[in-house]
Amino acid sequence: MRYKSCYWIESGINFDTDAYKVCCLYSAKGGGNTIIEDNYKGKPINWDKVFAFKEMMKNLHKKGEIYPKCEGCIFLEERDWDDNHTKISMINLDYWTKCNSRCMYCHTMQDKKKYNSFKNYNFLPILNDMIKRDILRPNGHVSFGGGEVTLLKEFEKLLNIFMDFGFPLTRIHSSGILYSKAIEKGLKQKCVDLIVSVDAGSKDMHKFVKGVTSYDKVWKNLKKYASMQQDPFAVKTKYILIPGINDSYEEIDLWLKKTKENGINCVFHEIESKWFYARRDNIPDYIIDFFAYAKSKAENMGLKYELYERAEHMMKFYKEKV
Ligand code: SF4
Ligand code: SF4
Repeated sequence: MRYKSCYWIESGINFDTDAYKVCCLYSAKGGGNTIIEDNYKGKPINWDKVFAFKEMMKNLHKKGEIYPKCEGCIFLEERDWDDNHTKISMINLDYWTKCNSRCMYCHTMQDKKKYNSFKNYNFLPILNDMIKRDILRPNGHVSFGGGEVTLLKEFEKLLNIFMDFGFPLTRIHSSGILYSKAIEKGLKQKCVDLIVSVDAGSKDMHKFVKGVTSYDKVWKNLKKYASMQQDPFAVKTKYILIPGINDSYEEIDLWLKKTKENGINCVFHEIESKWFYARRDNIPDYIIDFFAYAKSKAENMGLKYELYERAEHMMKFYKEKV
């Protein structure tokens, strides 16, 4: 049947620190944050509840309405959806917060000590249960976000299960401070893509934004990961533009230069969350110009340039520029 939906509504789930949700997005005009169950601490998932929630969303969309939290989301697409399934093929994992970075834009900076000592639930039993119940669909997509993935105890086991299960791509967000053999294996097998948000070109700006002295280590690890990648676009650097902090053409130039000289072929550009949510209806021209400049510069250097989620929502009105 033809209606508006997205891959998350159809077959996705996001595991957050204290809730599970349809997706991990907050950048839709309706606010995202599509919670299915709140105050979640890791008990067995009630899959009937998950699929009933998705059914409720789809039924609204089939009537021509939109689930309020999804209002304005760029991932909504009107087309014929094959909605007769009760399988999961997209998983986002955000359920831990421990991290070796101190990014100025991160919500964990409200109380780093608390978030670094927070004891998360384990996802491994949930994943095993999904496999046992035949809920997991091969050919799916997994994304690790949350805190620092290389500090997550279950990480290697989970990654190996996803690879063995035939998930063709696992997206990993890492600070890049620790080198991971599991990520290296995934890059060699072409089933991992790695995003490291460097947010700066210079060492001083990197330290200022990330709150740790990790510039040389991160670029060294990035270079090694890039030398292992079998897909030339698997390793990516990201730059979260924080207006008033790292919105400088020199920093952008240096970010692209470091990316290129370390053998990386793809960049992601993003806008800082709090700034964006407060001004999304009134974006100043100079911010749009930064994105247009970075795109043109990156492409002239032979780099693949992509907008990340919030930036994609922001730039949809400026398609002629970026
Ligand atoms: S917020 Fe967007 S991505 Fe998330 S479920 Fe709604 S439409 Fe899909
Ligand atoms: S790397 Fe991620 S989790 Fe860690 S401080 Fe930065 S944004 Fe937060």
